[in-house]
Amino acid sequence: MINKLISGRNKILFIELAGLLHDIGKLSKAFLEYRQKWQDLSNGWNIDPHEKDYLGSREVFINLIPSEFENYKIPVDIDSGKQDFSIKRAIDFHIKPGNELILQMLKAADGLDSAIDRNNPLWSSEQKDKIFKSNVFGYEGNRIITVESQEKARQELYAFFGSRLTDYFEHFDSEARWGILKGIKKAFDQGLADTTRPQNDTTLWEHSYAVASILKVLVVHYILRGEILDNSKTDKKIKFGILGIGWDGLRFLSYGQKIGDIVGRQKVIENTKRCLKDLIEYKYPIGNEIYSDDDGIYFIVPTGLNDDKLKELRTEIEDKVYKIATEVSGSELQPYIVEISETNTLTSLIRAIREMKEKVSYPFDSSINEFHEYFKGTLETSKNGKTVCPICRLRSVEKEDEKKKACNTCKGRRIQNDKNEQDECRPKNNETLFIDEIVDKKRKAALIVARFGLDVWLNGRMVRSLFVTEANGIEREVGNLGNVKHFEADERRIKEFLENKNYGKFNYSRIKADIDSIFEKEDKERAKNIAFLYDRRNVFNPDIERIKSNWERLLESAKKEDALIDIYNMINAKTPTPSTVLDVWNTTFMFFEDNSRNILKGLLPENRRLRLKVKPVNSDSLHDWGKRALEAEVLKTAIKRIELLYIEKNTVELIGELFSDRSDSEWKGRQFKITDSDYTASKNAVFKIEECLAGNLFVPFRTITATPNLFISIVPADRAVEITDLIYQKYIGHFGKVMGRLPFSIGNIFFDRKMPMFVVLDAGKRMVNNFDKLSKEGIEVTVLRDKEKIASGTKFDLKCTLGKSDKTLTWRLPSSLGNCDDDFHHPYFIVDNKKGLLDDRKTFFKTVAGYVVHFSDIKAGDEITVLPNYYDFEFLDSNTRRHDINLDAGKRRKSNVSDFNSKPFLLDELGQKIMCLWSKLIQGKQLKGITDTKLRNLQSLWLTKHQEWVREDNPDGIFAWKDLVACSIQKEFSIDKDSQEHSSLMETIENGLFFDTLELYLGILKERIDTK
Ligand SMILES: [Zn+2]
Repeated sequence: MINKLISGRNKILFIELAGLLHDIGKLSKAFLEYRQKWQDLSNGWNIDPHEKDYLGSREVFINLIPSEFENYKIPVDIDSGKQDFSIKRAIDFHIKPGNELILQMLKAADGLDSAIDRNNPLWSSEQKDKIFKSNVFGYEGNRIITVESQEKARQELYAFFGSRLTDYFEHFDSEARWGILKGIKKAFDQGLADTTRPQNDTTLWEHSYAVASILKVLVVHYILRGEILDNSKTDKKIKFGILGIGWDGLRFLSYGQKIGDIVGRQKVIENTKRCLKDLIEYKYPIGNEIYSDDDGIYFIVPTGLNDDKLKELRTEIEDKVYKIATEVSGSELQPYIVEISETNTLTSLIRAIREMKEKVSYPFDSSINEFHEYFKGTLETSKNGKTVCPICRLRSVEKEDEKKKACNTCKGRRIQNDKNEQDECRPKNNETLFIDEIVDKKRKAALIVARFGLDVWLNGRMVRSLFVTEANGIEREVGNLGNVKHFEADERRIKEFLENKNYGKFNYSRIKADIDSIFEKEDKERAKNIAFLYDRRNVFNPDIERIKSNWERLLESAKKEDALIDIYNMINAKTPTPSTVLDVWNTTFMFFEDNSRNILKGLLPENRRLRLKVKPVNSDSLHDWGKRALEAEVLKTAIKRIELLYIEKNTVELIGELFSDRSDSEWKGRQFKITDSDYTASKNAVFKIEECLAGNLFVPFRTITATPNLFISIVPADRAVEITDLIYQKYIGHFGKVMGRLPFSIGNIFFDRKMPMFVVLDAGKRMVNNFDKLSKEGIEVTVLRDKEKIASGTKFDLKCTLGKSDKTLTWRLPSSLGNCDDDFHHPYFIVDNKKGLLDDRKTFFKTVAGYVVHFSDIKAGDEITVLPNYYDFEFLDSNTRRHDINLDAGKRRKSNVSDFNSKPFLLDELGQKIMCLWSKLIQGKQLKGITDTKLRNLQSLWLTKHQEWVREDNPDGIFAWKDLVACSIQKEFSIDKDSQEHSSLMETIENGLFFDTLELYLGILKERIDTK
């Protein structure tokens, strides 16, 4: 078995590459222009230039086509038949495979990813003017795909290949494969797999990668078992497995004293994943990565890796997995392996992830013998009496007499000067590694943790609450009949038929009745005339029996994915195809990696570190001490301790010290002594500062990690609230159409510069765990007023109850397409329709996620079920404060200032309430005559009385207390009882948020009320 696999490796990798490139013709002006115009051409349907003989007759850059596309060949049936399968053949014949095995498998993989057998987009959703790129969450913005960009990307890709393909085909080297995949990704990320809405959400890369990965698995399945899976018959259905390798990533990350430790540990996770990827994708090339975050990596692999036939292979792979994890992580990451042995959908991924979460809750499982062996082998036998390293808590320290003890491994990992450590796939950034360069004027920093709840998307459920076809689209499509030249006559005939029949208004009941007609014998005529709307769009003389059996088969398979699904939902909503699942996490990953980072970069200043040219006083010139920071002492001055980075000969930089006009007067001529024992060159070496220069740039923040579901960054404390709000505003812009369906929460952990990082990270981890628990529970939100149209969006005024507190909030959500038309594919709310009152709304639909109604149909009084977004904060005034970050039975937690269970808040409250209270009412003087003392007195009066009167929620006490608060607001600030300010103040005082706001600004951030 293993030999078969190894000897077939080159072929597998070659077919993988051909699969990746099969749709290269879509990255072209020819393809986009065809899609814009085909409906106006009398033979438009059959002349898609990317489908047939693209390289042979359509490619305009003939001279640029790499010769290897045609010259490198393998047998058409993998190991038999004519030596004729080439990349060119995959590109030119992927639609018409004839009876060649590889091409047939390619077509089957392509079909599985495109879901061409169901919900084809409506022709009236074609983008005939500008072509916008979307994503699964419906974000188009102004992301326009130009024909020029496609030509340029393809041209550059051909040039990129240069001699790479020849080199690759010689040895099928791992690094070469990695490079080629990256090059193709760069080009294909710019293209679209489909231009028609809403399928313009899939990039050419996502589609090509999904197809190539499925194809790879089918080929391996064939090589290992001799069985062909190409969907041609029921016993040849495509099936595959999912293999997950995981660990508790946050726990591993959190062990560290300094930022450099944490960043170094994050690199260990990256390296481990990289090696595992190499193992599964290349060494034993059985599959490809389909998901990864800090907690592990998941692959699509052949089905049944665990059965007897493949046992040997499986054992060997497992063994290698343990070996890799032991070696790369120094035995600190114990990998667990989970497997979904047979499925036909990537949404099964979520089952693997859940299983993994259960397994990793035990840090070390000695039952995994293989790991244990490696573990024992590499772990130093801890010598009696030696101090255990405070970072990994595993190995003994290197030197007992050091002030900052650590083991060799942890010292080696610590990243302190990473100017040369930039990963080539990440943009160079100047995020600092030093807490002293991050802290604000009050010497405080904040950890920002942002978390997506992706489960409901990765399992496909929410994807099925987005629509391909719905009432408004169908109405438009029917009105548009007769406009597609190629089918003009058929379309006119149907249009006339439908006009005469009058099957009623376009809405959910109409759609249901249409679809029912396919299954019922009574109205064959209706079935024949509406089939084009729900089956393939070009069927005008449909075979109803074929459609019926096809739908029944699809429904049966969809029910395996989600038992709640019905036929109407399956046919009209989006299908979670492999590329859709990829797009879900590619999108959230890029949101963290790019957008969130850019917010920080844009907001925080770029600083220049102070660089010093020095002259030795009592020793030789300054020796290179590598990447770490060294401690030194300035002689004869008040500034005692400094930390130095080695730059070059006799040149250092001072951590935490900025270059400025005053640098010369402060530093020039002074002397410092290196006190750090790590400086082995000479003891107590003294240097004189000769010159002050502008050093390296740095921005005062550090991203710890950015993965599809988690973002962690350290920022100056006084900017944390503003940054958090900006990230949320960005979320609303990008994900607002799925508000309430894609949970997103942000936490702020404030701390002093001396707080060890493991305490901070542990606090962050607790907050993330809380968010995970909360993101699974929907809350009811009531719509207070009819929705209101605003620029390219819709505004909703809402109220809800969290715990015992009432809250009001406003959402301004995007609801338009890039071209400003209404988007009917994405912006829906899940609504409560127990009373059946919403049945008659035009966009009402029953989905696996619940009943949904489009934004435009929402009215006052509607109840929306929302997976809410949360905000939480905590100040670590001691090491143990982090233990307070725990939810009680009611999934709430106590505030530090009062006995209100006011935390966590809704993320909307941060901008709309907390920041507003502070900047408008307090600093902005909307509360007349407010002073520090007055506020403190009032706060203490209200809190004392609350404690005295509001016991066990007795109604009289609550009433009396509210009355007291209302009166004192009116009296102290002369605010009218009926005013907006009054009600908004009352709300935040009653739900406790007011007091938390004061704690945040006055207590933690040490702001003062401006008395000017
Ligand atoms: Zn250690």
